[in-house]
Amino acid sequence: MNDPEQKNQALARAGSAALKNEVKKESPEWAKERREEYLQGKIKRLSKEITEIYQEYERQTRDDVPHWFRLFALEYKKVEEKEKRLGRLNKELRNLGSGKEAEITEDMIEQARNYDITKLIEVKRNFALCPFHPDRRPSFFVKNNFGYCFACGASADSIGLLMNRDGLSFPEAIKALQ
Ligand SMILES: [Zn+2]
Repeated sequence: MNDPEQKNQALARAGSAALKNEVKKESPEWAKERREEYLQGKIKRLSKEITEIYQEYERQTRDDVPHWFRLFALEYKKVEEKEKRLGRLNKELRNLGSGKEAEITEDMIEQARNYDITKLIEVKRNFALCPFHPDRRPSFFVKNNFGYCFACGASADSIGLLMNRDGLSFPEAIKALQ
């Protein structure tokens, strides 16, 4: 398995499985209710945002100006992401109480994975000082929110960075990146 992305996903899956058992024991009585409340609020806000983007599109396209089509193309990516997230949140809400839910949800992992890695390390023109070895010149290449060191060979996404650089556990890293 040479693909760093695959390695990371495998790491995340392993961490996720181990974590489920670990945290379920500590789950307080109010946890489900609170998650439900959070999900409902989030779903409501997200639905509103999606509706607004579509409404904006309707309004702008009426003018039939190509410029707006370009703007919409940018917004459309956001809509797709938002709709995907909405799907995950709704799925989790449906599963709440069915025994399928875990403290760390797929949505939380997805959010953490998408956390802007440049907020965690200083990146200039796609390169940063490697967080995994004493690096004098920036060897850590960052692209698509993923870093790879051309010197030491280490790689990480935002989750892996917090785990391997800061020594956080998988659940700690996921929570820190929400
Ligand atoms: Zn390195």
